[in-house]
Amino acid sequence: MLIRKQFKFEGAHIVRNCSSQRCRENIHGHSYIVEVFISSDTLDKGYMVMDFCRLDKVKEWIESFDHSYSLWQQETPDLKDFIYRYNRRVAEIPISPSAEGYALMFAYVIDKILQQTDRVNGEGNIQLFSVRVHETATGYAEAFREDLKLVKFQMKDIHFSEGITADWKSTDWWEKLLME
Ligand SMILES: [Zn+2]
Repeated sequence: MLIRKQFKFEGAHIVRNCSSQRCRENIHGHSYIVEVFISSDTLDKGYMVMDFCRLDKVKEWIESFDHSYSLWQQETPDLKDFIYRYNRRVAEIPISPSAEGYALMFAYVIDKILQQTDRVNGEGNIQLFSVRVHETATGYAEAFREDLKLVKFQMKDIHFSEGITADWKSTDWWEKLLME
């Protein structure tokens, strides 16, 4: 069975090397919708795949991008200095922040978060099925498990500024992910 939980964030970026000059040469933002699909082979004691309230770390991860600048690690030192100088919330990431890039990175991290989520109510084989990232009202990118083979980065390549981590309710989940 498949369940879906929707999240959202307001994010800023530049998407280098894309065809649209507006996107590749201007800092701009979108109201992102993120849909997380989770599958299981059986239901827990509450007749659920898993209780949505147990996705609190997934929520924390996605909210880290809210009112944040998503800074591609391959940007010039000049732009990086500028971004860090004038923004408290910066997510420095190993992928270019296209909808596809976000979907892939979110799938990679959320898969790990789910693996680390304790099974406490008789849950079955809970697995990330896909992550869908809507950048506009008319378009989205979706990353499936099989797309994880496209991942060429590791957890330690993702960095959040203190302006982001200071808002986290806890940091243990992130430290656990980094230890992998
Ligand atoms: Zn954009």
